[in-house]
Amino acid sequence: MTGLRDKRVLLVGAGGLGCAVGAVLARSGVGHIDVADDDLVATSNLHRQLLYTTADVGRSKVLVACERLQREAEMAENLTRAVAREMRLDPSVSPEFLRNFDLVIEGADNFPTKFLLADACAIAGVPCVQGGAVRWAGWALGSLPGASACLRCVFEDIPDGPDRGCSAAGVVGPVVGVIGALQASIALRLLYGDSSAAGSLYHYDGLTGSLRATGVKRVRACRLCSGEIRDLEAERYLPRATAA
Ligand SMILES: [Zn+2]
Repeated sequence: MTGLRDKRVLLVGAGGLGCAVGAVLARSGVGHIDVADDDLVATSNLHRQLLYTTADVGRSKVLVACERLQREAEMAENLTRAVAREMRLDPSVSPEFLRNFDLVIEGADNFPTKFLLADACAIAGVPCVQGGAVRWAGWALGSLPGASACLRCVFEDIPDGPDRGCSAAGVVGPVVGVIGALQASIALRLLYGDSSAAGSLYHYDGLTGSLRATGVKRVRACRLCSGEIRDLEAERYLPRATAA
């Protein structure tokens, strides 16, 4: 597709969502995809992380992911450059780094990273597409800084109690595929300049088969949209996990 070749995307998380989104973006012709993660390929995740095989177990996810994304792009005759960043996004991430990208796509497996990315992208003024999947359900949300609802408008803050992310509670492969495809769809629309792709919360329930899009508005009391949160204070992103 024309227009995508000049776009730069940062994919945060090379797990199930990252694999699903990344493959679509590479096949679609996004010119530059950076992948950030610090995890290794594990056998228990292969059912939902479709870029990896048993031969990759123990290798760096981002290194394998970038090899595969490059190959996906080549199979569609696209000139995608995939760059591996072996790192976990933490509060030291700078707005200048994020401003290297046209879009950030977050598929992390824990709430602190999701809220960190929401805050960091809003502060840097970079659009982001976030998503989560646990067991048989998942959600996706695209946000345009200063223009549409952010993660905090919807979920407010890191939930109390144990983090029931997919690494702890498990997630079935099809849900990751659906949410990843939704994130890719929102991402491509935003990269093409369709701002209406932001501001809808998509929710998929794999057990009932229902897919709902709910328009979400910016919340006046939102700590991020109101400007109360202006930096990435490390204490704000500590896990709230308590013994279950
Ligand atoms: Zn907000």
